[in-house]
Amino acid sequence: MPGPLPTACLPLERLTPRALYVHLPFCARRCPYCDFATAPLDAAREARYLGALELELRARAPTGFRPWTVYLGGGTPTELTTPGIERLVELLRPYVADAREVTVEANPRTLLARKLLRLRELGVDRVSLGAQSFAPELLETLGRFHRAVDVARAVEVVREAGVRSLSLDLIFAVPGQGPRELRADLEQLLAFGPDHVSVYCLTVEAETEFHRQRARGELREQSSTRQARLFDLARRTLRAAGFEHYEVSSFARRGHRSRHNRVYWRNLPYLGVGNGAASHLQGERSHNARDVDDYVARVHASGEATVERERLDPEAKLKETVYLALRTSEGLVRAGFQRATGVDAWEAFEDELGRLESLGLLRRSPRRAWLSGRGVSLADAIAREFL
Ligand code: SF4
Repeated sequence: MPGPLPTACLPLERLTPRALYVHLPFCARRCPYCDFATAPLDAAREARYLGALELELRARAPTGFRPWTVYLGGGTPTELTTPGIERLVELLRPYVADAREVTVEANPRTLLARKLLRLRELGVDRVSLGAQSFAPELLETLGRFHRAVDVARAVEVVREAGVRSLSLDLIFAVPGQGPRELRADLEQLLAFGPDHVSVYCLTVEAETEFHRQRARGELREQSSTRQARLFDLARRTLRAAGFEHYEVSSFARRGHRSRHNRVYWRNLPYLGVGNGAASHLQGERSHNARDVDDYVARVHASGEATVERERLDPEAKLKETVYLALRTSEGLVRAGFQRATGVDAWEAFEDELGRLESLGLLRRSPRRAWLSGRGVSLADAIAREFL
């Protein structure tokens, strides 16, 4: 990489954080593919957890913190009891005055109208519903306990509550799923009229039940060629239905792109609270303790539960910023990157960008660079190569 590198924070890292992630870890049961920081719910644990969240926010939120986007993720936020939702709404109220988007993740089986209406009072205007599939046998394989009829009921709850934006998640390349099954899933999904769709390839993460099943020879992942074919089918179907494919896994109708995730893709600062939550503040990445009880104990002792801190070197940060930008359809905008980092990406990364271009994975104009269709299918491999 030619030329002098910035030594301190990049300009983008000095910006005031405008995004808040709140982790709600409770789930009715653990799905066999999941590696998120989750925990079983009981009322006493919920009360301790919400108390700790409030303390952590008070201790770590920058003075006058007024995020533009708030994301309630998990876990399953809607798994909280009704009193738990009440408490969550009260403790987050001081932070939502300027929010332009407030998202909640929900499970089709446990999204109740009374809980969502309370969350609407907080400003929740976007619901991300984990549909994953509509075929009973695939839901069974995924260890999900909801059925297509639960998704239909949850969609009705979301629409009746007047929520601006509904996102549905779909998982593809599940063992036993071929193009016919995926086509059927996509048809059912489109019939619900979502504003946004997130499509994820099933991956087997370490320390999950699927990982153990694979080690025992009980689970076979689909080949990368089949995964790419299924992804291509999903992409073509959703684009034909009028969705913009605006990030590798994300599709939106006009005006419904996720504003919160844009913060991550632009590598901008954000605050994350709750067990296992990550933050990116003033050039430092940090992670909270994953275990709920450990998290609660640490917050009560010191106001925070950070167990890992990391400062990437400038070159690593720049590469990460390039790669994240390439995941989006907007791509890497030369002038914007220069403003955000003080570096000309065309000069600094000519070798990497040129190599991707010669392989047909990247296209470039004088103003911006973006992944080709084949590049999008190989985005994760490109990230590994790039980083
Ligand atoms: S519901 Fe979501 S967060 Fe909870 S265990 Fe299943 S995949 Fe993980």
